[in-house]
Amino acid sequence: MKVAIAHNNNEETLKVVAKLKELLEEKNIIYDAKYPDIVITVGGDGTLINAFHRYVNQIDSIRFIGIHTGHLGFYTDWRSYDIDRMIDALLLRKPESAAYPLLDVSLITEAGEKKHYLALNESAIKRISHTLEADVYIDDQLFENFRGDGLCVSTPTGSTAYSKSLGGAVIHPKLKALQMTEIASINNRVFRTLSAPIVIAPDQWITVIPNADHFVLTVDGERKNVRNAKKLVFKISKHSIQFDRFGHHHFWSRVKTAFISDKQNDDF
Ligand code: NAP
Repeated sequence: MKVAIAHNNNEETLKVVAKLKELLEEKNIIYDAKYPDIVITVGGDGTLINAFHRYVNQIDSIRFIGIHTGHLGFYTDWRSYDIDRMIDALLLRKPESAAYPLLDVSLITEAGEKKHYLALNESAIKRISHTLEADVYIDDQLFENFRGDGLCVSTPTGSTAYSKSLGGAVIHPKLKALQMTEIASINNRVFRTLSAPIVIAPDQWITVIPNADHFVLTVDGERKNVRNAKKLVFKISKHSIQFDRFGHHHFWSRVKTAFISDKQNDDF
């Protein structure tokens, strides 16, 4: 088993990383930052997202384990004081593997060039100044003419992030679905959109044909300035992200703790 550690640089994180490295050495676990089997992240959800993008080209052969040093995250299961238990579990127990859908974004330029991106949370198309005009197709059928600030397409695990701030539903990550939410759409007697988030089935795809020669595309918060795009296609990727889980992980309990109340002894 080869392990890599990805982390942020908070004071608490650095202490946890030092201890983690000691434990790995003690247990003769090989540290390999280049070709790991397991990536342990220490930090927050943002740290895991960064690690995902660092290892995106090896995504099919890597499993992730998240340790959180800040508040409990959605991609981070372990608390920093539990790392001895985590390493023991890694060595002695067969983990449950949880695989969650990723978003595949294809950007096709006017010149016919094609770029691919994989997103763990979401991808959004936005204009900062002036409205974005775009035709939105579902499965190659025109669905609506959009006018507004932009559109966001998110994965189920991304549904608790930017998508939620845009009024999207929180979606259980076991569901293989994509959600599209609008960003400040214009709705009046001239322009009309659905004005509600949509969730598409696993075998469906969304095509956006922007009527703008430049706009911003974000992939998990990272900005790309796009010029001369002909269309964007959003679909569920054939790849997924895999987590090693050891025991109880209740998604709705995580949602409750993150957004409603961190009281432990309630219904969950
Ligand atoms: P960032 O500052 O690294 O992250 C913004 C916040 O989003 C952090 O508190 C982060 O948690 C949290 N987050 C990330 N993924 C999440 C998930 N799946 N569920 C719930 N919370 C999540 O921002 P960034 O680097 O620009 O972008 C990273 C991600 O943050 C984006 O993919 C986007 O979804 C989200 N974001 C949301 C908003 C918004 O809601 N208005 C704005 C910007 C970015 P940690 O503190 O644990 O890292």
